Amino acid sequence: MPATRTPAQLTAVAARPLVSVVVPCFDEAAVIGETHRRLRAVLRGLPECEYEVVYVDDGSRDGTWDRLTALAAADARVRLVRLTRNFGHQPAVLAGLREAAGDAVVTIDADLQDPPGLIADMVERWRAGWPVVSARRTGREGESRFKTGTAHVFYRLLAAVADHPVSLDTGDFRLLDREVVRTLTLLPESELYLRGSVCWAGFPETSLEYGRGPRLAGRTKYTLRKMAGLSRRGLLACSSAPARVPAAVGLAWLGATAVTSAVRRRPLPLAAWTFGCEAVLLGVLGEYLLLVHREVRGRPPYVVRQRWAAGVPVPAELT
Ligand code: UDP
Ligand code: MG
Repeated sequence: MPATRTPAQLTAVAARPLVSVVVPCFDEAAVIGETHRRLRAVLRGLPECEYEVVYVDDGSRDGTWDRLTALAAADARVRLVRLTRNFGHQPAVLAGLREAAGDAVVTIDADLQDPPGLIADMVERWRAGWPVVSARRTGREGESRFKTGTAHVFYRLLAAVADHPVSLDTGDFRLLDREVVRTLTLLPESELYLRGSVCWAGFPETSLEYGRGPRLAGRTKYTLRKMAGLSRRGLLACSSAPARVPAAVGLAWLGATAVTSAVRRRPLPLAAWTFGCEAVLLGVLGEYLLLVHREVRGRPPYVVRQRWAAGVPVPAELT
């Protein structure tokens, strides 16, 4: 078990920490009441913790907002954020992370596919010192074979080409320590792939396994287009490989052209060499695009985990 916290932080966590739960909602009127009931039951049972629930209405059109305001009116621990229109799941989660005040922040879907009961285990791991507790999907009941199959392949492809380690089969059901939330919410980027950003930030992570159940009610809000958009953003955010494809193809092509010419003792036609050269030149442009992409994204070159000064650890909030 890693002692990732300083003694001062451990004392602070021991004194009734605040746990925030962030729930992005897009047209979830059919489930939101039951979701809140189950969340509240779990959160009330957390030993020695205060809690709040932050619902983010991502431009719902089905009465979700009215249900949420009714919940907020009846429960002072409920906070609401309403976005002007549907911006998508990732921006909605980020809005919640920015709004949440907790020492630990859990993000969870509204449709009860992620079991609220797991939050208690997440909080326990967090109190043991883990800054990131993710939930790894071992089974996905009630989802199409197409969705589970493509997700399986995508996570493995991403892990193979990513510039930094990425977690397999984890979505956005996870607990983040305040330090991690601070790091993520300071990033200026708006093309979001939060599960990649969490891995990039590099804080120690542990994971709990769970079987993902079917939706309680309603239909998935992740259309094929939204899923494709998320995968594209994930690939471009976590990996330099796509920009390097032209250079790799060009060099391999030129190499093959040279070998073939040598074997035949006669150079191949000019067009064969031209294609290779063009691909290499595109690769050079790709390298510059990568540089520009990194600069405009504005991520810091490193993230500090802990500081010590004058013989003692410096509290995170002073660094
Ligand atoms: N969601 C959102 N904005 C969107 C799409 C989805 O806030 O544009 C929310 C949705 O209400 C749910 C979570 O994101 O709480 C996951 O969406 P969904 O369950 O439809 O996706 P799936 O589980 O089918 O991948
Ligand atoms: Mg769902």
